[in-house]
Amino acid sequence: MGATRTYLDHNATSSLRPEAHAALLAALEQGGNASSAHEEGRAARRVIETAREQLASALGCLPQMITFTSGGTEANNIAIKGAAVERIIASAVEHPAVMAAAQATGKPVQVVPVSAEGVIDLTALQAALESGEGRALVSVMLANNETGVMQPVAEVSRIAAEHDALTHCDAVQALGKVPVRFAMLGADMLTFSAHKLGGPQGVGALVVRDGLALEPLTHGGGQELRRRPGTENTPGLAGFGAAVAAAGKEPHIKRLRDAFESELQALVPEVIIFGAGAERLPNTCSFAVPGIAAELAVMSLDLDGVAVSSGSACSSGKVAASHVLTAMGVDPELAACAIRVSLGWSTTPEDIEQAVQALGRIVERHKNSAAA
Ligand code: PLP
Repeated sequence: MGATRTYLDHNATSSLRPEAHAALLAALEQGGNASSAHEEGRAARRVIETAREQLASALGCLPQMITFTSGGTEANNIAIKGAAVERIIASAVEHPAVMAAAQATGKPVQVVPVSAEGVIDLTALQAALESGEGRALVSVMLANNETGVMQPVAEVSRIAAEHDALTHCDAVQALGKVPVRFAMLGADMLTFSAHKLGGPQGVGALVVRDGLALEPLTHGGGQELRRRPGTENTPGLAGFGAAVAAAGKEPHIKRLRDAFESELQALVPEVIIFGAGAERLPNTCSFAVPGIAAELAVMSLDLDGVAVSSGSACSSGKVAASHVLTAMGVDPELAACAIRVSLGWSTTPEDIEQAVQALGRIVERHKNSAAA
């Protein structure tokens, strides 16, 4: 990212960590196919198995439970399409990689509502489990990519198990930001993606409880226990492992996010921070200043050197209101003003200052034009 830019869109893609960069380059230069029996092949295999151990150690799971994939989207698809279930239950705020995969199975999909703070309604989950026919897969994310709101996944897994259902958790946004331990979540499957925590793009993982049968989506070689055949992305995995090992030691992120929110509230007292009453990731702030359209604000911020996201999804040229904010009951007009600021390991106090000052200029211009 350019030195003069202020990058606050780490939930989209975090900046590559120096540790990941070094590991990736070293593996790229080393070469070798991990399926080959010769020395070069064995060296590539060691790189992959080191990455597997680094992820297993962070999660407190067995290395053989980890299937490496091309990212979070593929891991979610393998989990949802490959599970031996008759129906799927998902929270209303899941990522499209869960929702669209669930729809694509052709199986019945039940959507469980969330509260105004964005937290899953556990009574409605219970009712959904009791109302449908056949074994269910419950898919609930650990942390939301737009708002950072965390879900009570351990509780979800417990309720699901009481109904003989499987649980999948998309933990893509949580890893590296909050502790993620396999046993504590109680889920049967967990999804991860390297580029959200400072690793390279195009690499991820699905962690599957030992003994759980999954039908693979693709067929070919014997890699990744046949769950994800195809030559592994060895350099990418080296970067993933190094990023995982380096992440999670950054208390400054929460301090800076909290400072951003207090400065924002001081600047514009009418600001609304979505999910502020819920447990949230320490790096995310989703907010709206009523009357200031997000699309325009994101463009002005970009021109001012600050990279953030809008809270609405732009598909086929039309800006659609965020399904996450809609599920939280946010008024569509306010949802159209939602901006997401997400911090990462490389964020500095100067970045926060730049962002607040740039937002201040937008608010000032808005007030002036409203007064004119
Ligand atoms: N799940 C969540 C919660 C995400 O935020 C993302 C990325 O946007 C994904 C899944 C998809 O991950 P990937 O970009 O690695 O395919």
